[in-house]
Amino acid sequence: MFRHTLIAAGLVAVAGSTLAQGYPNKVIRLQVPFAPGGTTDIIARVIAEPLGKALGQTVLIENKAGGGGVVGANETAKAAPDGYSLGMATVSTTAANPAINPKMPYNAMTDFTPIINIAATPNVIAVHPGFPAKDHKGFLAELKKNPGKYSYSSSGTGGIGHLQMELYKNLSGTYITHIPYRGAGPALNDTVAGQVPMTFDNLPSALPFIQSNRLVPIVVAAPQRLAQLPQVPTFKEVGLEPVNRMAYYGIYGPKGMPRDIVDKINAGVRKALEDPAVRKRIEDTGSIIIANTPEQFGEQIKAEFEVYKKVVDSAKLKLD
Ligand code: GLU
Repeated sequence: MFRHTLIAAGLVAVAGSTLAQGYPNKVIRLQVPFAPGGTTDIIARVIAEPLGKALGQTVLIENKAGGGGVVGANETAKAAPDGYSLGMATVSTTAANPAINPKMPYNAMTDFTPIINIAATPNVIAVHPGFPAKDHKGFLAELKKNPGKYSYSSSGTGGIGHLQMELYKNLSGTYITHIPYRGAGPALNDTVAGQVPMTFDNLPSALPFIQSNRLVPIVVAAPQRLAQLPQVPTFKEVGLEPVNRMAYYGIYGPKGMPRDIVDKINAGVRKALEDPAVRKRIEDTGSIIIANTPEQFGEQIKAEFEVYKKVVDSAKLKLD
C-alpha cells in the first residue's frame, strides 16, 4: 500500500514536470471578471502582450462580467489547473465579496493558486460636474442636507466600490443609494452621462475622465495625496481612515497548479514589468507596481479578506 502510494506520487511528479517543460505550447487565456473599460481590464491589457512575449505564447484576454466579478472568478476557480486558464485576481473577487457574500460559489482562500500581484491602485469618489459640490466639505454637507436624494454607481455588488462606499456612508452618517454595474466601465459611462451623480471607483479607470473634466474627484484612498491629483485629500485626511484602502490587481489560476508553471508565469510578469514603457503605462494610472512572489500575494489576499471581514462585521454591512 505504502509502496503504491510512493509510485503514484512519483508518476504525478513526472507528469507535472513534463507539463511544465513544454509550457506554454498553446494560447493562454487571461480572464477579466468585469466589463471592458474598468481597472481590471486596463491592467490586464497592459500586461497581456509583454507577458505573452516573455512566455513565447499569445495571452488572450476574455471578459466575463457579472455578480461583482464572482461569475468570472468562479469560472477560473473551476478551470483545469494547467496554466492555460488564468484570471485577474482583484480585491473585489478575493476579499470584498468573500467577506460580505454568504452565497459565494468558491472559497477565495483555497480554490485559487495565487501567482503574482501586479499593482496596487488608489480608489476615488468622483462626481458628475453637475453635482452641487466640488470638494469633500461641500460634498458631505450636500449629502447630509439631502439624505436619500443621491445614488452612486459601482463595479458590482459586493465589490470594493460597493463595500467602501457603504463604509463611507456608515462612518459619515449619510445615505446614498447603490447602483451596481457589470464593471467600472459601464458604471463610469452612466456617471459621465449624468445618469448617476457619483461613483466609487479605482483610479486607473476614473482618471482619464477626471483629467478631461468629465468627473470631479472628491476624495481618494491612497497612503498620501496623489501626484496626479494633488488638490484632492485622502480619506485619512478627512477623518475616515478605514476607507483609505487601495485595490490590487494580480494574476491567479485554479488551485493545484504545478509549481514550475506558477514560477514561469511569475517570472514572465516580472520580465514584462522590467520594460520602462510597461511600467510607465501602469504608473501613469496612479498605480504602484508590486511584482511579488506567489506566497506574498497569497498572504496579501488573506490579510485583505480579514480586513474586509472586520469591516463587514463592525459596520454590520449586508448585501442589498
Ligand atoms: N472594482 C473592481 C476591483 O477592484 C474592478 C472593477 C472593474 O475592473 O471593472 O476589483
